[in-house]
Amino acid sequence: MSTVSVQPAQRHPGNELTQADLRNLRRLAGFMIPAAGDYGAPGADDEAIFTDIVRSLGRDQNDVRKALVMLRELAGEDFAALPDAEAAPAEPEVWVADGYPEYHTAGCHELNGRDAEPVPVSQAVEDGFSPCGRCDPDNLIGQPTENG
Ligand SMILES: [Zn+2]
Repeated sequence: MSTVSVQPAQRHPGNELTQADLRNLRRLAGFMIPAAGDYGAPGADDEAIFTDIVRSLGRDQNDVRKALVMLRELAGEDFAALPDAEAAPAEPEVWVADGYPEYHTAGCHELNGRDAEPVPVSQAVEDGFSPCGRCDPDNLIGQPTENG
């Protein structure tokens, strides 16, 4: 009896997306549903979860492909190849001043008279800044603003 090779593609409609599509989609999924470090829960770009997402696309696959084409046009190149800084959605900015160890929301009184500049909050944290105790930037970033 001859060996018949079974093509996994026949069972997984998601495989009709190109490898580039899948990479882009996976990266996008990771941004939309990032891993929740606190709970040890994986993000949507986790291998198993992403495979499941792609498998369940079904008839939405064409729409997904269209969206990915649009994404590629917006990015001007392969989305998955972009550096994180360019591919990531806009991030809340905080204000830091040279020589001061804290980061602030815009307009914090602690910034008065200081030469402050806006940076993405992740960069402020990476650079070793800690949240200001007066304006509580993390609180503001974590919630929608209440007073406009
Ligand atoms: Zn402050």
